[in-house]
Amino acid sequence: MQFQPPASHFIDGAYVEDAAGKVIEVIYPATGEVIANLHSATPKIVEQALSSAKSAQKEWAAKTGTERGRILRRAAEILRARNYDLSVIETHDTGRPIQETTVADASAGADALDYFAGLAGMLTGEHIPLPNGDFAYTIREPLGVCLGIGAWNYPIQIACTKAAPALACGNAMIFKPSETTPLSALKLAEIFVEAGAPSGTFNVVQGYGDVGAAFVADHRVAKVTLTGSVRTGRKVYASAADGMKHVTMELGGKSPMIVFDDADLDNAVSGAILGNFYSSGQICSNGTRVFVQKGIKSEFLQLLSARLEGANIGDPMDPKVNFGPMVSHRQMEIVRGYIQKGVEEGARLVCGGKQLDRPGFYLEPTVFAEVSDEMTIAREEIFGPVMSVLDFDTEEEVIVRANASEFGLAAGVFTRDLTRAHRVAQKFEAGTCYVNTYNIAAVEAPFGGSKLSGVGRENSKLALNHFTQTKTIYISLNDVRAPY
Ligand code: NDP
Repeated sequence: MQFQPPASHFIDGAYVEDAAGKVIEVIYPATGEVIANLHSATPKIVEQALSSAKSAQKEWAAKTGTERGRILRRAAEILRARNYDLSVIETHDTGRPIQETTVADASAGADALDYFAGLAGMLTGEHIPLPNGDFAYTIREPLGVCLGIGAWNYPIQIACTKAAPALACGNAMIFKPSETTPLSALKLAEIFVEAGAPSGTFNVVQGYGDVGAAFVADHRVAKVTLTGSVRTGRKVYASAADGMKHVTMELGGKSPMIVFDDADLDNAVSGAILGNFYSSGQICSNGTRVFVQKGIKSEFLQLLSARLEGANIGDPMDPKVNFGPMVSHRQMEIVRGYIQKGVEEGARLVCGGKQLDRPGFYLEPTVFAEVSDEMTIAREEIFGPVMSVLDFDTEEEVIVRANASEFGLAAGVFTRDLTRAHRVAQKFEAGTCYVNTYNIAAVEAPFGGSKLSGVGRENSKLALNHFTQTKTIYISLNDVRAPY
């Protein structure tokens, strides 16, 4: 099999196998074919990964930030040089079109490594003056062994987003990819070693949720950074709390996108397409509740339906294809269930809604109109190509409705009125807000959720705070005066 790795796990600089672990079948979503067989980690593998990471972390942290940065930068260069090959793996693992994976996966991962490579040498504490010449200073210390747990939509990008700041700060990382998309993280582990990172600095261990849970519960893990659903986030957060571990939680969303009647309609439709159908809708920050002001609703829907006819659905390895299958049969069935619910609860199916008559897990881009706030499709995260269009009259009304969600990952507004744009952005209860655009995710800017969508921030300088702890050291230049 072309995509079969030498073994399931990568620990201490080498591929490792324990065939006693439960089989993980890796399936190409465009055909349903099995492209690799791996094994979920056994307790022996989990132990190996932990002890290797624990000892590698000391060696890694002893390097200067500049040295660590140089290695991360070298890893970024290798990722870029291998971008196409890595994109082919990512397309076979996720089903996402090669048109997407060549620009948004390994290359975005390389950007993360470059960015944090630049910051690695700048991690410093501060000097705090105290009376009579005394002073304190602070040291930014790494946390130790960090655990990264990934979702299946952007596997190598998620692995890099977590590894780059963790490693820049002198931590080691054990990464557990989603068992649905386990392949590319192994390549990343090879690349770190090739770039000069000590063996064990970045270990990859495959497994189902129970493997992630075993790591979270282990006392040698100092921090857990998870990208996944709220359901999993709750379990992981609770288990991490038991050991008082640091956490970053990047969870789900049901984000609003508001289109006012003064908006540039072409841009708003483009934003709605990007924010609902890129990666077949499998993006956490998608703006899946599209609130359109009543006066422009029919024009918006007409334009949107016409544009969706231009979706080129097919073989994701064809560079012209811009809409691929869902990641798995299971995910497709979940999304079909939501489409069914939308119809049953009285939303109007404007277009799509059907599975394509071809092998693989293909669903049409689907748009519902006349959606009301109470409907299931307007409340729950679907994580598939399903857009809900809701009408509104006034700014005051739509802000209240947009914020009436347990999630708070992202939000967007389309309007030509600058004052309104800022006013609305300030009122959104969300971690990331977009004005006249949607779904940009730059490594330089913080990303993360409010409410149930998460804890902490990834990307940007803020991520460094989540991978270090501060130590304060008091220094006295004076005699010690005790009361007796
Ligand atoms: P899941 O929550 O099902 O799984 C996420 C990861 O956690 C997987 O690797 C999973 O392993 C693992 N896991 C499951 N149970 C446990 C447990 N008890 N302890 C430790 N680890 C566990 O999410 P999906 O993979 O289905 O991804 C989709 C979700 O991710 C959506 O909700 C989406 O919004 C969110 N997401 C958030 C992003 C963000 O940045 N905010 C970005 C991308 C996605 P296994 O797969 O083997 O069960």
